[in-house]
Amino acid sequence: MIGTLQVAGFLEHSTVNGEGFRSVLFLSGCPHHCPLCHNFEMQNMNYGEQVDYESILKRIAKVLPLIDGLTLSGGEPFIQATSLIPFLKHIKSKWNLSIWCYTGYTYEALCENALHKELLQLIDVLIDGPFVAELKDANLKYRGSSNQRILKINQNKPPELLYY
Ligand code: SF4
Repeated sequence: MIGTLQVAGFLEHSTVNGEGFRSVLFLSGCPHHCPLCHNFEMQNMNYGEQVDYESILKRIAKVLPLIDGLTLSGGEPFIQATSLIPFLKHIKSKWNLSIWCYTGYTYEALCENALHKELLQLIDVLIDGPFVAELKDANLKYRGSSNQRILKINQNKPPELLYY
């Protein structure tokens, strides 16, 4: 399959970016500019490099027997929705991998945009909302500030709030 993503980084496996043992794909570019952003350099759309789908798939394939899924982080993954949709469709049909995704948008805001809604349908768990420094809590699992929600995305039904 042909296509590219602007990639800020890739972790083969992590236990702090979602449930289980997960690969993490960091996508470049973010419009939210949260004060005290933990990935400041990734706000730049030109940070990192353009990587073709096949190269990313090969990196995931290498660790596939070890991982429980793939997490998308950044940056703001949804600004690359046009490229992420075919990429995730391929991953789902090839491996049926569980997909977690971090976003600075709220779930409700994403639902107002047709392209974002299409991408949401390929995601299993969404961690939504911007990072708010005043609400930072180091005891929270998988999220940085208490305004952020961990949402299990359901097809044709409202999402379910998950607690960790
Ligand atoms: S959404 Fe994430 S990457 Fe974007 S500015 Fe906020 S903390 Fe940084």
